[in-house]
Amino acid sequence: MKEYQLFIDGKWTAGAEDRWIEVENPATKEIIGKVPRGNAEDVDRAVAAARAAAESWAAKAPHERSEFLRKLSEVIEKRKDEFCTTISSELGIPLKYAFDYHVSGAIREAKYFADMCENFEYEQKTDCGMIRREPFGVVAGITPWNYPLDQATFKLFAAMAAGNTVVLKPSQNAPLCCCILAEAIEEAGFPNGVFNLVTGAGGEVGNAIALHEGIDALSFTGSTSGGIEVGKLALSTVKKITLELGGKSPLVVLEGADLEAAVADACSSAFMNTGQTCCAYTRMLIPEAKKDEIEALLKAEAEKYITGDPLDPETEVGPLISEKAFNKVKGYIEKGIAENARLIAGGVPENCDKGYYVNPTIFSDVSNDMTIAREEIFGPVLAVIPYKTEEEALAIANDTNYGLYGAVYGEPAAALEFAKKIKAGGVHVNGAGGGVDMPFGGYKQSGIGREGGTFGFEDFLEIKALCY
Ligand code: NAD
Repeated sequence: MKEYQLFIDGKWTAGAEDRWIEVENPATKEIIGKVPRGNAEDVDRAVAAARAAAESWAAKAPHERSEFLRKLSEVIEKRKDEFCTTISSELGIPLKYAFDYHVSGAIREAKYFADMCENFEYEQKTDCGMIRREPFGVVAGITPWNYPLDQATFKLFAAMAAGNTVVLKPSQNAPLCCCILAEAIEEAGFPNGVFNLVTGAGGEVGNAIALHEGIDALSFTGSTSGGIEVGKLALSTVKKITLELGGKSPLVVLEGADLEAAVADACSSAFMNTGQTCCAYTRMLIPEAKKDEIEALLKAEAEKYITGDPLDPETEVGPLISEKAFNKVKGYIEKGIAENARLIAGGVPENCDKGYYVNPTIFSDVSNDMTIAREEIFGPVLAVIPYKTEEEALAIANDTNYGLYGAVYGEPAAALEFAKKIKAGGVHVNGAGGGVDMPFGGYKQSGIGREGGTFGFEDFLEIKALCY
């Protein structure tokens, strides 16, 4: 069993109280590690360390900060197997997908923000003087468990590259990979206090961070309800806040679409990572006239998603993160049946005696007012919603409190025009891929601000008008 401490001011240090959070392997229910259950005093120590390091880190030349990030990318690459086995065992992702889905992003982001840091124009001349970008000082990150490494690195590598020092509170469900990240940062030789890790519960460490007067900016990734609570607390000291929240994203199939490609994308998005993906396309909008054909393709595709032991190379879908998540997802499947959606794959899981497994589940004949079409289920459940006209499809796509992501399949020009009308922070047309240079974030209740690209870097810089 792995046991970690807090990482504050470049040292591994015990929590103020002898309280611990045990980390469970959701495939076996075995306890695989423990981390301190930190408190407000631990947050004070971490913020003091970050504050003490802020001035000299900000004063470093951009190329110096870049060098630390490049070295860090090398260390993560060198330790990638350790990251992969840890994430697989604390999250339940099949080991064969752990690198592509979870670890490769951290390596890319370290390199990307190293380049950004070096090439960014921090001072722009104007007729009145200049516009100058300056780091905030101390930035905190509060992150979820579903992409436990990448959600931390996406924000904090940008924040550190921009010249801020940081305090990270990872999710209590999957904190171990962030402890290895702290080791990697130590190994890469970052100055003390630039990166600090305080593990603990949301209501304790998370609240203490949100309320802390010594933190200048807070970047939160998690549920919409958690983001609203944290945002309210953070505004009590007028911190700059970025919120990356939940989603209920549509994948819209138009006339002329490649149906096989659309079905493959819908299933991959809804089932991979056991459906625990904020931007998953969990509502598939299909033309009524093509329902039979698409349902047949969906049933065949769903059969490819073998659920089981994350260490078995045949496995495509591992367990859900926890018993709480299992009961929640089970409840939504029961609700879908009760509200008269029609099951075409999967169904209500029996029990979770041998791990929190739920087979990929597809409902057809879903209407957009059903609970399974409105709420974020966060499990491998796809809701298929037939429509009659493209106007109706657009209305359904946008009839949601969320606005994180979307996809459109169809004749390329028509699909692009349709994509422009979806109210979401990102829309993919005909399966086109994205990248770390594209902004990621949500419209409506999916969030405030962006990660990735220049926008995700600028979100960690203050703007000063210097008139002279
Ligand atoms: P969560 O909101 O329960 O927790 C997220 C983090 O916030 C955790 O570290 C938690 O301890 C902390 N936290 C929760 N409530 C808090 C509070 N009141 N005060 C302070 N801290 C608090 O979310 P989760 O279950 O860990 O993650 C799943 C959610 O995250 C889903 O809704 C998913 O859509 C969303 N998510 C969004 C993105 C994105 O980029 N938009 C990415 C990944 C996950």
